[in-house]
Amino acid sequence: METRRNIKDLTLSELHAWFEAQGEKPFRAKQIFHWVYQQQVERFEEMRNISKALKQKLNEHFYFSQLQRFEVCHSTDGSIKYAFELADGKKVESVLMPHRDHYTVCVSSQVGCAMGCDFCMTAKMGFVRNLTPGEILDQILEASKDLPEGEVVRNVVFMGMGEPFHNYDNLITTLRIMQSDNGLNFSARRVTVSTSGLVPQIVRFGNETVKAGLAVSLNGVNDEIRTQLMPVNKAYNLEKLVAACQAYPLESRKRITFEYILMADVTDSIEHAKRLLKLLHGLRFKVNLIPYNESPGSKYKRPKWEQVEAFQRYLLDRGVVATVRISKGQDIQGACGQLIQGSTKPEVKSEVAA
Ligand code: SAH
Ligand code: SF4
Repeated sequence: METRRNIKDLTLSELHAWFEAQGEKPFRAKQIFHWVYQQQVERFEEMRNISKALKQKLNEHFYFSQLQRFEVCHSTDGSIKYAFELADGKKVESVLMPHRDHYTVCVSSQVGCAMGCDFCMTAKMGFVRNLTPGEILDQILEASKDLPEGEVVRNVVFMGMGEPFHNYDNLITTLRIMQSDNGLNFSARRVTVSTSGLVPQIVRFGNETVKAGLAVSLNGVNDEIRTQLMPVNKAYNLEKLVAACQAYPLESRKRITFEYILMADVTDSIEHAKRLLKLLHGLRFKVNLIPYNESPGSKYKRPKWEQVEAFQRYLLDRGVVATVRISKGQDIQGACGQLIQGSTKPEVKSEVAA
């Protein structure tokens, strides 16, 4: 007998094709999607408009993946940070963040990460494994259970553990399921994928039919600094990265977000701000400044607040859209998430415009 598949790993068209191949009505795929993603049931038995025989057949071929809540930390600012345990015992982090009028979930795309960035706690784990589409979707579904009555997750950001473009095919499948109107019905504008700068995947992503906002972690304004911080810069240096961003097919009124970590004396001077402007000149972009989140023993330091403001001011005064990410959940950072690496990454944030 074939091994069973996680029902949440299939796109609507794949499920459609499966029903067809089984000699069943293909519209069943939409019904299943409705139950899984809109009703969020976790067993075929609960699907009322599916016959008993078909339920049995589905159970023979598919199963429902489930995350275990290994640790859940509530912050006084309303954000919730999760350490989820996967079926094989590995753990990932996700964060549910309340904003004034909506909720955002920050998801992980891998266990660990292969990119080796010098400042990042996840990098210390090395690459462990890719998450399947179902395991990425599960983070959204599980966090949704903690929403107040009537609320939904409006935004999803791929800024947790892992490099999403290193798990490219699963990322695309996940986006397709998320954006399917019979699935989670996310609008492309509400989903952001953050990459450390894998140039071939940036090019490929620009040509996909499924869309999402693109965020690029810049962090260094010349090759020397960026290579020190991010080894990926050896393969794809700033010239190649900026060229790929220049060629990236943006829809009208869309911009590329450049994430830029402010680290005392390493990236936070006005000279760096000047260089950043030169580097990105001609692009449609905005900058998201992230004051460095220190962890015990980290060699980089967070700048003083005045320096963060001065950096932002320099950009704003020159007409650049520049926001500062203020970490939410500061009060739980020490207590929570020490169990898995990556805990000091700033998943829990809101953006503060000037
Ligand atoms: N791997 C992807 C997405 C996850 S990292 C990427 O690198 O873009 C999400 C963001 O957190 C990145 O912009 C990264 O530069 C930043 N980051 C990682 N560790 C950090 C830390 N300790 N303090 C502040 N930002 C950090
Ligand atoms: Fe991976 Fe992103 Fe951390 Fe770099 S910053 S090691 S790409 S998760």
